[in-house]
Amino acid sequence: MTDQRDKAPARTRRQAGIAAVVLGAVVVAVAAFTTPWRALPPGAPQVAPDPARDFSAAEIARSQAFDAATSVPSYLSFGLTILFAGLLVATPLGAKVLGRLKGPWWLRVVLGVLLLTVLVEVVRWPLGMWFEVRLRDFGLSTQDWAGWSGDRLKNIAVRVVLLSIMIVALVGLARRFRRWWVPAAVGAAALTVAASFVYPVVFEPLFNDFRPMPPSPLRTSLLAMAERDGVPVEDVLVADASRRTTALNAYVSGFGATRRIVVYDTLLKAPEREVELVVAHELGHAKYNDVLNGTLIGALGAAFGAALLFAFFPLVRRRARVTAITEPLAVGAVMGLMSLATVLSGPAQNVVSRHVEARADAHALDLTRDPATFVSMQKRLATTNISDLAPDAVEYVLYSSHPTAPQRIAMARSWALLNGVPEP
Ligand SMILES: [Zn+2]
Repeated sequence: MTDQRDKAPARTRRQAGIAAVVLGAVVVAVAAFTTPWRALPPGAPQVAPDPARDFSAAEIARSQAFDAATSVPSYLSFGLTILFAGLLVATPLGAKVLGRLKGPWWLRVVLGVLLLTVLVEVVRWPLGMWFEVRLRDFGLSTQDWAGWSGDRLKNIAVRVVLLSIMIVALVGLARRFRRWWVPAAVGAAALTVAASFVYPVVFEPLFNDFRPMPPSPLRTSLLAMAERDGVPVEDVLVADASRRTTALNAYVSGFGATRRIVVYDTLLKAPEREVELVVAHELGHAKYNDVLNGTLIGALGAAFGAALLFAFFPLVRRRARVTAITEPLAVGAVMGLMSLATVLSGPAQNVVSRHVEARADAHALDLTRDPATFVSMQKRLATTNISDLAPDAVEYVLYSSHPTAPQRIAMARSWALLNGVPEP
C-alpha cells in the first residue's frame, strides 16, 4: 500500500531536484563567504613551513614511524566504510539482510539500523584494536581493553540512536506526505542544530567527566584573558582525558547556553603560559562563533541532503531492490547514501576547518602577542600527540582538520614579522 506513494510524479521530483541545486549552491556560497580565507592581512610576510627548523631528526623520524604504523588500519577502516556503503546503495544487500525483520514499520527501521551498524562494526572491530595497539606501542593510549571496548560500544550506541531517530522520522514523513522532502529538509536542519546544541551536555558526559578548573593563578589569568578578549566565560572545564590518552587538546563545543571551553587534564602539566596560548586559540573559536556557524552550515547541508535524497532515490531503488523509501527495507540504502555523503563532504569540511583554525591561531597571537610561546606550545602539542608533521596529499585532504604544526609555526613567524615582534 505504501509503494505507490513514493513513485512521485516527475514534476514533484523535478521540484526537489531544483531545491537541491539551490540548497547546494546556498551551502557552497555561505561556506565560501564565511570561511576566513586569509588568517593574516594581505601583504603579510610569508614564512614557508619547514619541519626541520623546529623538530629534531629523531622527532621527525618518530612522527613518520607513527604515521606508517597507523596508516594501514586507518585506510582499511576508511575503505571498509566506503565499500559497505557502496554495497548498501548499489546492491540488494540491505534488503536481503533486513528482509526477515518482523513488526511495525518503525520497529523494523530501528532494528534495521541496529543490525546493519552491528554488521559493519563487527568487521571494523579488529581494525580498531590494531589501531589501539599502535597507540599503546607509541605510549599514546592509557586505556585497557575493557575501557576501550566500553568507549567503542558507547560510540556505536550513540550513532544507532541518532541514526534511528533520523531514519524513523524520514520514513514516517515519507509515509505521510507526498512531498516529504520539504518537512524532511526542515526536520534535518532542526535536528542538526538541536544535536549540536545539546552535544556538550548530553553526549560528551557519556565519555568524560568534566569539572570546573579549581581556583589557581592559572584559572584567574585565563578568565582575565577571556574578559580582556570580550568573551567572558564563567568557567574553563577540565576533562579527565588522561583516563584514555596522553595526548594534549582543548576545544570549544555547544553554543548559546551550552557553550563551553574544555581543556584536557593532560594539558595542565604544560607550562602555564602555553596553556594560556591554547585557551587564547579556543577564545578565538568562541569569539567568531565557529561552532554555531559550522552548525548552521551543517543544517543547510542536511536540508540539501533531504532534497537530494528525494530527487535521486528512484535511481538507487532498483539496484537496492526496494520499492520505496516508505518501506523499512530501504533503511540500508538510506544509511549507505548518508555514509557516502559524510565521506564525500569530509575533504570540503577539512578545507573550511583548516582556515577557521588558522584564524583562531591568529586570534591567539593578537591576544597574547607572544609568538615565541605559541611556537613552543605547537612543538609540545606536535611531539606529545605525535602529529604528522608532513602528511602526504591524500592524508592532508582526508584527515587534516587543522593546519600542520610546521604550517602553524610558520604562520606565527609571519605574524611576528608583520607585527614587529622578534621572530621566534
Ligand atoms: Zn581550534
